Amino acid sequence: MSELRHDALSAQDVIVAAGRAARPVTFTVPPEPEPPTAAPACAFCPGEEAMTPPEVARRGSGAPGEPGWQVRVFPNLYPIVGGPDAGPGTTGAHEVVGLSPDHAQALGRLDDAAAVQVVTMWRDRTRAHLVAGHAYAFAIVNHLGPAGASIAHPHAQVFALDVVPPAVDAALARVRDAGRDLVAADAAPEPLTIDRDPVWVWCPNASTSPYFVRIAHPEAGPRFDDADDDVVAATAIAVRDTLARLAVVLHDPPYNVVVRTAPPGAQPYHWYVDVIPRLAVVAGFEQATGILVNTVPPERAAAELRAAVA
Ligand SMILES: [Zn+2]
Repeated sequence: MSELRHDALSAQDVIVAAGRAARPVTFTVPPEPEPPTAAPACAFCPGEEAMTPPEVARRGSGAPGEPGWQVRVFPNLYPIVGGPDAGPGTTGAHEVVGLSPDHAQALGRLDDAAAVQVVTMWRDRTRAHLVAGHAYAFAIVNHLGPAGASIAHPHAQVFALDVVPPAVDAALARVRDAGRDLVAADAAPEPLTIDRDPVWVWCPNASTSPYFVRIAHPEAGPRFDDADDDVVAATAIAVRDTLARLAVVLHDPPYNVVVRTAPPGAQPYHWYVDVIPRLAVVAGFEQATGILVNTVPPERAAAELRAAVA
């Protein structure tokens, strides 16, 4: 039976329509994407540091602009916000975070220490931007072309804005109006749980796309940039583990990772991470209604991801 569900955190409606997955598709299935290979001209690979703007931070060894790094941050050469072309509402910063010196080593394939180093860098960069006076800062990953990546080398992006986006303000208002922790409430139902200890990992009841996974540390406060090292580390390992499970079940799907966090001065909130595999197309029904369609019930996705050995 198809079912209309509502996500209290995003205010997004979704129709979970498992039966629709069985409909015949007469388009030719595109070939599997080629596995990433080391492109000699990859600007994000070690040895090519001069191809990027001057770096702003690194972890690992080596001098700025030289190889030796494990994680490397530099301004985006084609920024969405910030940079010389920024106008009113688009000032801020847009940074690239190289997640590994290895061109083929996506976040889901890193070891614990490397994953912790990566997510700690996201925390440190968002903190630096907020200390510098920007209004809002967050981190995301676009993995593979269908998820918005234009460069194959595994990387994240950190953004700083001088406005708080209306969607973030609206999310804060929903939490305030609810008068309870909406993240904890969303994480609770048993059949949707992938893991509970030490970090909550689950498929939301109103998952807006197949195999959508939400991740939250029970002790996370309102702001990612304010999070303690141990909270960041446990969350990083949970994100890495989730991506590895998705790779097992879905064979390295494109995905977005989005850190949902409150701006300075706003609470209550409970920061969390959404991992959104990009498997579905937003089509005419969704455009007309604002209601998304998910053909994989999150109960089934959670069971598959629980069983997957990452
Ligand atoms: Zn590369």
